[in-house]
Amino acid sequence: MGFDLTAQQREAQEVYRAFVSESIVPYADQWDRDQALPPEVFRTLGAKGYLVPSLPAEYGGRGMDMLHYGLFSEEIGRGCQSVRNLLGVQGMVAHALLRFGSRSQKQLWLPRIASGETVAAFALTEPSIGSDASNVRTTATRTDTGYVLNGVKKWISFGVKAGIFLVIAHSGEAASAFLVERGTPGFSTEPITDLMGLRASMLGELRFEDCEIPAENRVGKEGIGFAWIANTALDYGRYSTACGCVGLSQACLDASQSYSRERKQFGVPIREHQLVRQMLTNMRVNSQAARLLCYHAGYLRDQGSPDAIQATLAAKYFASTHVSLAAADAVQIHGAQGIGYGYPVQRYMRDAKVMEIIEGTTQIQQVFID
Ligand SMILES: Cc1cc2nc3c(=O)[nH]c(=O)nc-3n(C[C@H](O)[C@H](O)[C@H](O)COP(=O)(O)OP(=O)(O)OC[C@H]3O[C@@H](n4cnc5c(N)ncnc54)[C@H](O)[C@@H]3O)c2cc1C
Repeated sequence: MGFDLTAQQREAQEVYRAFVSESIVPYADQWDRDQALPPEVFRTLGAKGYLVPSLPAEYGGRGMDMLHYGLFSEEIGRGCQSVRNLLGVQGMVAHALLRFGSRSQKQLWLPRIASGETVAAFALTEPSIGSDASNVRTTATRTDTGYVLNGVKKWISFGVKAGIFLVIAHSGEAASAFLVERGTPGFSTEPITDLMGLRASMLGELRFEDCEIPAENRVGKEGIGFAWIANTALDYGRYSTACGCVGLSQACLDASQSYSRERKQFGVPIREHQLVRQMLTNMRVNSQAARLLCYHAGYLRDQGSPDAIQATLAAKYFASTHVSLAAADAVQIHGAQGIGYGYPVQRYMRDAKVMEIIEGTTQIQQVFID
């Protein structure tokens, strides 16, 4: 495993692994039941520079390259998909601002997002617009001093926790991107609870009712909100999701190997039964294939290769469809125990299915992979 990593990359991987084993794995089931991440998670990740480790140090990041970021996301995904989703979303907003934001937007928001002082959310999806995201219906109408926003955003990760929102809204011919602060008059959020997976991701529905924002809150030029800004964010989020899926499938494999060694039926550990062995083998081989696709995407991203976007789509497609099957098999291997709260595999299965929906559904990846 990991034969193509350098000694330095392996060392870093060990550090991330130890952090996740100590600070995330023991608590993830409780966070799932609480439907929230506690405040200390945001504080701890922020203090370590782990919220957006890929940001340059001048903005509070660790200047982590994409391959290391992938290794890091894999480990976080092994522990808790809601924490992985948190890091994905913080990175999506921060990198969109890093690339398209004004100097003052970067100076104001990036250090706050990186430290966890202000949680960020990315608001694209609406009740009637999901995959067809370039056709959002939320409007941003020009005024003398700025814009007035009207519309509803749905399924927004950390929507009930965030202090700053990157909102995609139509401002004429095409969509533009805007920063909206919590507390702005005309802007409100409602929690979305009792979801099947990613239950600690504190999802919210956002409502904009004649919500006035100043002109300087627009990010980048008018009309590039979907084509450039949202797509930059989604590409980053897709990489984070793909690597997180690899971690989740590793967790499925680890749990299944351990259980299938302990559990005996017909006088032998169940792993001795060939049909159980088949599930374990598929899990192992497909996990490693997904990992290699992620390494490849990370390598191309670090090279600034134009092929990186396609490689990331392929990695997300393969890793998310595989982990959905792997997590279902992990529950299968655990039998009745698999559906109870005594083992984490039921959480893995619930979270795994969500991976096929976020950052572009499986079918949308199939349409866009060239
Ligand atoms: C836990 C969670 C967190 C989320 N966080 C965020 C967030 O932070 N910010 C945000 O903006 N959004 C977020 N979302 C929303 C997510 O991005 C959307 O759910 C996703 O884009 C799919 O949209 P939809 O659910 O409306 O499905 P739809 O687009 O309605 O699709 C329904 C089905 O039709 C299929 N379909 C649609 N179009 C096509 C096509 N052209 N060809 C083939 N099949 C097609 C889809 O694949 C799917 O199977 C989140 C969702 C979840 C579940």
